Amino acid sequence: MSTFDEVNILFDRASERLGLSDGIRELLRRPWRELRVSVPVRMDDGSIRVFSGYRVQHNGVRGPYKGGVRYHPDADQDEVRALASLMTWKNALVDIPFGGAKGGVQCDPLSLSNDELNRMTRRYTTNIEHLLGVNRDIPAPDLGTSAQTMAWMMDAYSHIHGYSPGIVTGKPVELGGSVGREQATGRGVVLVTRIAAADLGMDPRGARIVIQGFGNVGAWCVRAASEMGCKVIAVSDIHGGVHSGDGLDVRALVAHARESGTVSDFPAADPLDNNEMLELDCDILIPAAIDRVVHAGNAPKVRARLVVEAANHPLTPEADAILGDRGIAVIPDILANAGGVIVSYFEWTQNLYQHRWTLDEVNDELDAMIGKAYAAVRETSLREGISYRDAAFLIGVGRVAAIFQMRGFI
Ligand code: NAD
Repeated sequence: MSTFDEVNILFDRASERLGLSDGIRELLRRPWRELRVSVPVRMDDGSIRVFSGYRVQHNGVRGPYKGGVRYHPDADQDEVRALASLMTWKNALVDIPFGGAKGGVQCDPLSLSNDELNRMTRRYTTNIEHLLGVNRDIPAPDLGTSAQTMAWMMDAYSHIHGYSPGIVTGKPVELGGSVGREQATGRGVVLVTRIAAADLGMDPRGARIVIQGFGNVGAWCVRAASEMGCKVIAVSDIHGGVHSGDGLDVRALVAHARESGTVSDFPAADPLDNNEMLELDCDILIPAAIDRVVHAGNAPKVRARLVVEAANHPLTPEADAILGDRGIAVIPDILANAGGVIVSYFEWTQNLYQHRWTLDEVNDELDAMIGKAYAAVRETSLREGISYRDAAFLIGVGRVAAIFQMRGFI
């Protein structure tokens, strides 16, 4: 089953519960626009490589399209389409005025030099720029991309259209980025983790937590979880993981990763591979790296009481069902990792008004919005007797369907 089909299982369940007609379902399920482009790049050795790039605009009825750009070997049309669909439901769930989109270039960014990445980003941007605009479609960083990538995108777009900081979010603060954006996804994940843990009668202080992925999202989750008093017992990145039953020294781990570029050889802990870590005895598991890492094969071995999806689509539908049957609580991606797009919304707003918010303003608004979304999901889940994931989709799909009716779209 494709990733898009897997997302649509959730969409279909919500549509059924909402009693949407077949026509509206078809309209909401399908992306409105998809673009595949060739991205030719002059490599440092003088050769030419041609990468495949994508931008999928899934649904724009609630506002301009919004969604990240990922650089990853698995970023193909289907994956980007699935992630664009998730953005539509996420943005509606947290009630920000955006539709859903996603972009990607199929490549291994770790094998490219900085100059090659710069050239690739510029070419990708100029090949999709006719779809973009501050009131049309606003990209952001995702897996394998960063604030630097957004700076290059903004520069390439601005060469054609004039100075346009609002065309991307997640850019460096000096270029019109928002304070608090870099840490926003991790902050939101940990905030939601704290509330969910309390709902389960678990004290997050001292809770044993395992975090897979140490990029933008994972590294900020590790810091925020440690500040909240959790015992971070295992962390990993693409090179492997480390484990300490007594809790890792997070400050030393962060310093080590900054120096060596990986957490996997942190000397003050035991090595662990990425599969083993998902099965560790712990209270809270946070997958914060890539898709579909928990599947039918390893879901029966997950030992956490609470799984919080910081990554997009880290559980297959089979894994989700297995964890549900085993009584393991799962906080779904479209709720847990929404902090990033919420602060992207604040960044876009600041760019439109040419105004700056303080860090306290950003964090207070973020905490309020994600807290409100969590409360709505919890209330819907209890009222309808459904999982948090189904409740989150029910709210998101319901809001998009309602706007269709209001706008008299068809
Ligand atoms: P990133 O590129 O900054 O970091 C990814 C991390 O995952 C790195 O530490 C990398 O080494 C690790 N990784 C890659 N492949 C791995 C593998 N096979 N096994 C274990 N670890 C692996 O990306 P990010 O921005 O932190 O995004 C991570 C996830 O969070 C993605 O699913 C992304 O879609 C989602 N997300 C990101 C944001 C955001 O604001 N950046 C917002 C919402 C959701």
